[in-house]
Amino acid sequence: MHPRVVLLLSVTIGLAVALIGALWSLADGSAQHGPRPATAAAAATAPKIVMPAAATSLPAVRLRAVAAADPCAQPAVQQALAAGGDDAVVEAFGGGAAFRAAVTAGSAPCIDLADPRRDWVVVNKARPLNPVTFAPSSFGEPALTVDGAGSLRADVAQALDRLSAAADAAGAGSIALASGYRSYDTQVQTYSGQIAEYGQAQGDALSARPGHSEHQTGLAADVVSCAGGCGDIDSFGGTAAGAWVAQYGWQYGFIVRYTPGQTEVTGYDAEPWHLRYIGVPLATAYHDGGYSTLEQFFGLPPAPAYPG
Ligand SMILES: [Zn+2]
Repeated sequence: MHPRVVLLLSVTIGLAVALIGALWSLADGSAQHGPRPATAAAAATAPKIVMPAAATSLPAVRLRAVAAADPCAQPAVQQALAAGGDDAVVEAFGGGAAFRAAVTAGSAPCIDLADPRRDWVVVNKARPLNPVTFAPSSFGEPALTVDGAGSLRADVAQALDRLSAAADAAGAGSIALASGYRSYDTQVQTYSGQIAEYGQAQGDALSARPGHSEHQTGLAADVVSCAGGCGDIDSFGGTAAGAWVAQYGWQYGFIVRYTPGQTEVTGYDAEPWHLRYIGVPLATAYHDGGYSTLEQFFGLPPAPAYPG
């Protein structure tokens, strides 16, 4: 509001209050002429408060600071969301830490942690994919794969190539994809096979239920170390490449999704070979903040088991 308008309004209100006050005292004075009932005397000790009409019709004041606190209202965020550039969205928030803070505070309604098209999707035993038969819109194969590894979302395959090249350049050996995208139908077959062979409890421990696997997003990569020949996923954690990825993977947008001691939060025992792509800005914030689960990073409840 312009200062002059405020001043004018204050003067107007002041005058109105003075006028009403004068009228009130006149009305009260006129009553002095007749006999005064006892109730009126009591009422006189508790004066009525009369609000001038102008005071009740003041326009509500919108603070500029409140509008700025909604990052989703920023044009840069809206444009990046529409363009599908998830790193650009995070940068428009002011970086990964600011993005995380806004999401956990509930002040970023345009960010849906259940959207499987986005780098920030969180899938676990309590958060199935939506739709449950989701498939990525693009696929690509990394340069290094083992037989039957499949593919990843195209940009994630390229990020894995950069990760592998950097690990090799650092002397830790190359990293190959052992298992990437798995469709809903594939997971149905895998899971029902495990249940048939080992029963429900053991089957659940070995394989995600259909629609609950991060691999269905195209953002998850089970990897192996290839120094000379390639190893298997179970030995990856003990290799130089495994140690290198745990320390530097964030620089290429990857986190180790299931770390030791977090089974009660993630629902999975440690899997040093299961990398999850979340993009460089978010992985940087994840690393810098010292987080060890995506649930903790986004302030979500633990998901140790399937509900019901
Ligand atoms: Zn995996």
